[in-house]
Amino acid sequence: MSNFKKKKLPETADDFIALFPNISGNTVNGLNETKVRRPSPFFWHPQDKHEFGELQTEVVGIQRRSPEIIEHYSSEAPRGPKTIKKAETIIEKTNEEWVAAIKDFTLSHEGDDIRIAKMEPLYIYEGYQIDEPWVIIIGVTMDHSQLDKVPASFKNPSSPVEVARQYNRAARVCRELTNFILRQGYMAKPWAGPFASALSMVPAAIDSGMGTLGKHGSLIHGEFGSSFRLSAVTTDMPLIADPKRDIGSEDFCQNCQICVKACPPNAIFPEKQMVSGTKKWFVDFDKCFRKITILGPPKWTPKWTQNGTQNGLQKGTQNDVKNVSKLIQNWVQNGLKNDQKCIPKFIQQCIQNDCNILKNIQNMSSKWLPKLIDCMKSA
Ligand code: SF4
Repeated sequence: MSNFKKKKLPETADDFIALFPNISGNTVNGLNETKVRRPSPFFWHPQDKHEFGELQTEVVGIQRRSPEIIEHYSSEAPRGPKTIKKAETIIEKTNEEWVAAIKDFTLSHEGDDIRIAKMEPLYIYEGYQIDEPWVIIIGVTMDHSQLDKVPASFKNPSSPVEVARQYNRAARVCRELTNFILRQGYMAKPWAGPFASALSMVPAAIDSGMGTLGKHGSLIHGEFGSSFRLSAVTTDMPLIADPKRDIGSEDFCQNCQICVKACPPNAIFPEKQMVSGTKKWFVDFDKCFRKITILGPPKWTPKWTQNGTQNGLQKGTQNDVKNVSKLIQNWVQNGLKNDQKCIPKFIQQCIQNDCNILKNIQNMSSKWLPKLIDCMKSA
């Protein structure tokens, strides 16, 4: 253990830090609060629903500058069928029969685990409503050999790509199951990541016996460990809740310190903390997110622009120009194909203004550098 070496993470850019709001993420997450309450919308919710929206937009934008990642988060990514209309005739079966039917269906449609919890108000984020009385939680495993290829970079996007791939699989499973239930005449709604909305899946997954919260702040599955993703379906189909189960990790985490020692920014508390009225394992969001492994600085700037002076501009080489030109072409092509939000702001302005830089992108030369710098500065 004492030989455990911390991985060196990429440097985090100063302007990324500057996007942090004045409020602590730990406060939003209920650290040291003694009253039980519903979770507050936070990271991965729509950006206007929480104070970290600007930071989140930047993080998403960074990831989407990687063509490999964009491919898995595009509108053409395989995320399952559209929701169908509920059948008008309700098929009657016993709760036991429906439980067996949905479990068989899910496990034969790409799901690796499925469990059921009775809906609780604490599973629903503040400001949202869910009417269905049951939560079906689905687990899909991730390929750990891919996740292990960290830190991620533009040259090595294997780990975020695997995460995206499995989010899509989890989405396919929950959407297929939703339609299966709707065909039986019951209400059903799918819930899939990576973005969050009304349903907080982890507490429902714990109550359904999928696993327990680990000291590292992620769910530990009884069989898959932490290498898996969740999706869910809420429904009024008559079901039976699965029992919570002790998978042994509670005791194990009490004594094990591996993640605490390995965590580069020391964000993992070695002891349980009081969080929204419950003592639980907790990760310091503020420390963690300041060191998160990102694929590059948030506002990518060529080395030769850094001092912003005329001298700096003149130092730009033809090779710099070639690299910039290639990068911009990638941004524009991928951005236009998928979601314009992934294009850096200054390029979006170029598109809007029908800018000459883009028209001349194939033959870009150093005469465009000052104009490019102006665009970057004004964006
Ligand atoms: S304390 Fe050990 S077992 Fe528990 S989450 Fe950390 S590394 Fe895993």
